[in-house]
Amino acid sequence: MNLSYLFSRDDNEWNMSSDIIYMDYQATTPCDKKVFNEMLPFFCKDYGNPNSVHVMGSRGKEVIEFARKKIADFVRADDPKEIIFTSGATESNNLAIQGVARFYRGKGNRIITSVIEHKCVLETFESIGREGFEVIKIPVLKNGIIDLQALENSINDKTILVSIMTVNNEIGTIQPIDRISSICKRNGVLFHTDAAQAVGKIEVDASKVDLMSISGHKIYGPKGIGALYVRSKPRVRLSPIFFGGGQERGMRSGTLPTPLCVGLGKACEIAQAEMSEESKKLTKLKDYFLEKIFSNLSKVYLNGDTEYRIPGCINLSFEGVEGEGIMLGMPNICVSSGSACTSDSLEPSYVLKAISIREDLAHSSLRIGFGRFTTFEEVDYVSSKIIEVVNKLRAMSPLW
Ligand SMILES: *Cc1c(COP(=O)(O)O)cnc(C)c1O
Repeated sequence: MNLSYLFSRDDNEWNMSSDIIYMDYQATTPCDKKVFNEMLPFFCKDYGNPNSVHVMGSRGKEVIEFARKKIADFVRADDPKEIIFTSGATESNNLAIQGVARFYRGKGNRIITSVIEHKCVLETFESIGREGFEVIKIPVLKNGIIDLQALENSINDKTILVSIMTVNNEIGTIQPIDRISSICKRNGVLFHTDAAQAVGKIEVDASKVDLMSISGHKIYGPKGIGALYVRSKPRVRLSPIFFGGGQERGMRSGTLPTPLCVGLGKACEIAQAEMSEESKKLTKLKDYFLEKIFSNLSKVYLNGDTEYRIPGCINLSFEGVEGEGIMLGMPNICVSSGSACTSDSLEPSYVLKAISIREDLAHSSLRIGFGRFTTFEEVDYVSSKIIEVVNKLRAMSPLW
């Protein structure tokens, strides 16, 4: 493996080699250079521990509080104190779910989520289920939207928490957060949402929920930082999962990574300024892409709701071909397939299973993710390439 590019500071070398096209913005996003530049002074120059009382410490604390305010403004929290820094959405989800469940266990033991959550939510529910909590998983309809009637019916007087994601990472479907919020309020149940795929793409509003998870690297910030919004009026309580110096109002001990906090703040500031234009651009690219695919290939299906979805996440099934096969046919293009190729089994995605698409179509799926740096030329090239590869594979397939 040639890693020599890592040691070059020529600015052009920081860009990806030009023959690779990145269309996997749901897996992660490149760090915006404006974010990266803002972080730099806090590695080697202003490196004081933000908990220290001396001048270096207070500088660190000041920039962290400034970043916290930007994040709070962006998610429309009332008070920056409601933002708790974490290492990412995985930790935020763990803290929200374990923290609420353990703190409120005197009130009840039923906790509710959906079948299409990210693994870090589902696995946390599984784990906490082994501590005596009763876990209910709400099904989704064929469009990927959760069954609101099933949610309503599953809430009883022992229910303490509902956790439903705002936008799904595989099919891009947007959940009816307003309606889930009013169901939870009416029943006096706390509502947590994993907004890792929503923030920076659609308007999110912390006033609708009690807890909200966000991730830095999904919004052109650095990896290894995220945040959890925890409502303060009325106050939501959490049992911490990390113990130590009592940082983050005792909810998350550990020295804050100043550069990463600054990076997350900057990423939110940029997203706030550019979100509406970016969304228009992505919608145009998506429309062009889908129009070209559908007019050149038969038996291609768009997974997830056609209307309630983010424009940058396109999940398609190409009948008669394997998603992995398409990927092998275009090795310089970074997309994802709907099957996780584990050691010896090709398991189709549980999200695609949950929206009850045919098993063969689940194996035929491809997730194509557009984002801030996607160009029209790239979309045009990738769509042509997909058409070419799918036609070639279908021509070779005895089943087609
Ligand atoms: C990426 C992602 C996560 C995990 O976030 P990390 O910051 O990588 O831990 C959680 N939920 C959703 C919906 C995601 O897309």
